[in-house]
Amino acid sequence: MAMRFPLTDLLDEQESYNFLLKTLHPDGMKCKQGHALPPDQKPHDRRRDPIFDYRCRICGNVFNLFTDTVWQGSQYDCRKIVLIVRGVAQSTSTST
Ligand SMILES: [Zn+2]
Repeated sequence: MAMRFPLTDLLDEQESYNFLLKTLHPDGMKCKQGHALPPDQKPHDRRRDPIFDYRCRICGNVFNLFTDTVWQGSQYDCRKIVLIVRGVAQSTSTST
C-alpha cells in the first residue's frame, strides 16, 4: 500500500513556514553575510506572506527563509516544500 502524506491537510502555510525555519535555520535566519536577524526586526517586504523578505540592518542585503538554501528563487509555497523535504528525508532513510 502506498504511503500517504496527509501533511498538506494538517499544516497550514504558516506552520509549514515555521517548520522550514527550524529545519533550514536552526540557529535563526541570517543574511548572506552571516549577520543574524534580530528577533524584533520587522519584514521589509510582505508580498509573499508568510515568506517575508528582511533587509539586513548591518549590510543592507535583502534575504528571506530561502536565501542560501537550495530553495532560493523557488516559487513553491512552504507546504509544497515541506512535502518535498519530507519525501527526500524518507527516501534517504529507506535506501541506507
Ligand atoms: Zn548583513
